[in-house]
Amino acid sequence: MIEFEAPKPISQQSFVLKTVAENMMRPVSRYFDENEHAIPWDYINFMHMAMKATGAGSLAPKETPKKDAEGKERPRIGYQMLAFMLEMLSWGDVGIYLCTPGGGLGAAAVQANGTPEQQVKFLTRFGEEKPAFGAMAMTESQAGSDTSAIRTTAVLDKEKNQWILNGEKIFVTGGQKSLEEGNGLVVVWATIDPSAGRAGMRPFVVEAGAPGIKVTKLEHKMGIRASDTASLVLQDCRVPFENILGSAEVTQEKTTSGFKGAMATFDATRPVVAATGIGVARATLELLKELLSQQGIIIRYGLPRQKLTNIEREVIDMEILLRSAWLLIIKAVWMADNKLANSMEASMSKVRAGDVVTRITQKAVEIMGPIGYTRDYLLEKWFRDAKITDIYEGTGQINRLIVARNVLGYTGRELR
Ligand SMILES: Cc1cc2nc3c(=O)[nH]c(=O)nc-3n(C[C@H](O)[C@H](O)[C@H](O)COP(=O)(O)OP(=O)(O)OC[C@H]3O[C@@H](n4cnc5c(N)ncnc54)[C@H](O)[C@@H]3O)c2cc1C
Repeated sequence: MIEFEAPKPISQQSFVLKTVAENMMRPVSRYFDENEHAIPWDYINFMHMAMKATGAGSLAPKETPKKDAEGKERPRIGYQMLAFMLEMLSWGDVGIYLCTPGGGLGAAAVQANGTPEQQVKFLTRFGEEKPAFGAMAMTESQAGSDTSAIRTTAVLDKEKNQWILNGEKIFVTGGQKSLEEGNGLVVVWATIDPSAGRAGMRPFVVEAGAPGIKVTKLEHKMGIRASDTASLVLQDCRVPFENILGSAEVTQEKTTSGFKGAMATFDATRPVVAATGIGVARATLELLKELLSQQGIIIRYGLPRQKLTNIEREVIDMEILLRSAWLLIIKAVWMADNKLANSMEASMSKVRAGDVVTRITQKAVEIMGPIGYTRDYLLEKWFRDAKITDIYEGTGQINRLIVARNVLGYTGRELR
């Protein structure tokens, strides 16, 4: 049976998160856009308490208990729930959502690459008493779309049983917050064998307070300005041997398991990043319709298309785009929950969401004219916030390549 209704725990959660988004994010949306990186820890602590009170906690997918009270198998809904949660919080404000304590991409990398023991060790901090952030540092100046070009190295100090990391990472979302207040972590991708290309790639957990890692720059950005995007330098940064994610035997391996781990991380995170774009698009469409109705323009759903005005047709087309993009996300997260290979669906959902949020926010500014362009309303801000959906976690071009490879049955080498 195909089920299109959100399971009850998800719709209840969304309902509660709407209150947070409406009352704690929207009122400060403009302020934290104009005052970049200015979110104080008081506000972060406040959001942390709100997330805990709503049960949203760690903003990381949770394993649903396998059996219900009657002993029946429960469906896994962790990624589906996460998509709904992030959509709603991004409807509130996507930049502020990125400053809401939670595991973020760091937790996703631990989940995709860590052993069960590592998952317990590194993930329990999220959603606990103290707020904690998780980030993932893959990108380097010469390694963006081509992640296998990373040059950050990890060398084993056998005497002390520690890894020594050296290199520079750029564009790390939440990099500063993850290292700042003592309880977060950054998953740093490094190579244990620079001559081995992607075979040498491995993820390492660098916990806040580790010696030898520091933030060197915060980007000034077009959108998601509340969120910090950091450059990190690792200089003889030491982490315990067991902070390498995955098997301890990896130093001997010459397989591409490390690179596959990176791709598995993206398969999990791309649909939920897509969901954040849909939150922005939905916010835009709702405000657009409200502003139009104030001017006496009410969309006449159900009329034949030729009887509609041009604006009505545009708005209805935007709704179609929004809903179709959301369905692709639901399919991709449903597959992730059911442990099905979802590379193609994850990339498809990300491409579509990036296109849709860019188009909807641009159209809304265009339709509202001066009202859309000025800072009196959030339309111009959402237009700026939208574009990142199409850049991080693989650009639109890269995700299109992945879809094409899957459809045509080509490898990465054959179609690049
Ligand atoms: C605000 C922000 C936050 C970010 N957060 C993170 C983070 O938390 N962690 C992290 O590791 N990284 C992060 N990134 C980095 C982001 O993932 C990269 O910017 C992105 O992957 C593109 O890499 P690049 O910038 O090096 O561009 P390049 O790889 O140099 O690409 C430049 C252009 O060429 C296109 N292109 C490249 N290769 C191909 C190809 N084969 N075919 C067709 N077109 C191609 C790209 O699509 C792009 O349009 C963030 C970036 C930004 C802007």
